[in-house]
Amino acid sequence: MTSSFRFSLHATDGKARTGLISTPRGDVRTPAFMPVGTAATVKAMMPESVRDTGADILLGNTYHLMLRPTAERVNRLGGLHKFMNWDRPILTDSGGFQVMSLNDLRKLKEEGVTFKSHIDGSKHHLTPERSMEIQRLLGSDIVMCFDECTPYPVEEKASLASMQLSMRWAQRSRDAFGDRPGYALFGIQQGSVFRDQRAESAQKLRDVGFEGYAIGGLAVGEGQGAMFDVLNYAPDMLPEDKPRYLMGVGKPDDIVGAVKRGVDMMDCVLPSRSGRTGQVFTRRGVINIKNARHLDDPRPLDEDCTCPTCRKYSRAYLHHVFRSQEIISSMLLTWHNLHYYQELMAAMRGAISAGTFAQFEADFLTMRAQGDIEPI
Ligand SMILES: [Zn+2]
Repeated sequence: MTSSFRFSLHATDGKARTGLISTPRGDVRTPAFMPVGTAATVKAMMPESVRDTGADILLGNTYHLMLRPTAERVNRLGGLHKFMNWDRPILTDSGGFQVMSLNDLRKLKEEGVTFKSHIDGSKHHLTPERSMEIQRLLGSDIVMCFDECTPYPVEEKASLASMQLSMRWAQRSRDAFGDRPGYALFGIQQGSVFRDQRAESAQKLRDVGFEGYAIGGLAVGEGQGAMFDVLNYAPDMLPEDKPRYLMGVGKPDDIVGAVKRGVDMMDCVLPSRSGRTGQVFTRRGVINIKNARHLDDPRPLDEDCTCPTCRKYSRAYLHHVFRSQEIISSMLLTWHNLHYYQELMAAMRGAISAGTFAQFEADFLTMRAQGDIEPI
């Protein structure tokens, strides 16, 4: 255990990196996937089960928690870790992304954003200073700068203005965060798909100085091709000795492509949300458990998966409980999906350490291309 926040790089293979983030609440092995615990819970999962899948860190959403149950209440109850029974590291977003997506319900100014709650229509104000205060009240280990997530597609000029506003907010976030040993503040690079803007943003963030750097404004509808184009250069603009976090990504093949391009951390609702909609991720691609082909199938989702769902339940059972809208369906499918994501991260960490990432990627793509096992 350490009393400070540290990042150490252990091995690289091409641009892919593996290392360790050390925090007073525990270590995070990178590349890391962070399950999303929007409202102080990873839906359908006990925190102990999330840990069993191999997760070292969770993501919490400032926007949701500030509205309900409020950051002040969480703080009075001992902080988010105690409140939700997760004693390992937590990263919180700044609330910016969700607030920006409210569109009609928000007003953006230099000072910050005024918006109406989607829950009860009540009026709220979010600024870099208030976002830092909320994330401190929650007790988040990794705090994100308050920024404007630039929409996509966007005109070059509008993207520039948005990025520059985010960079002014990054300085204000840094000033408001203050000196908090053991906790980290991450800056967020913006600039959409414009290389010179990404470079300007990275330089401004480096001038301020952060414990880690995120790549924002991707996974917002640009598609994998455009995202990889940006990732071909954006991570290289950020300091080599600090963690790089790609926000809101993604599908398994997005994740492998991002790690290949030098990303260390990611988060996405996909494995947990898909667990509730009957979408299952396996080494052979995506399975839709709703499909009638599973009705009489006694085989597990994946013969080689070691998760409790695959060890103890058949496709036929999972199909049945999904169609019957039983709660256990969300539990079992989410568990498998999160397990699959964490196994994927572990495999990549191993491949980078061994210097075999190219072979890993080739095998990953070949396996997926085979598609699901033949129906019974
Ligand atoms: Zn499984």
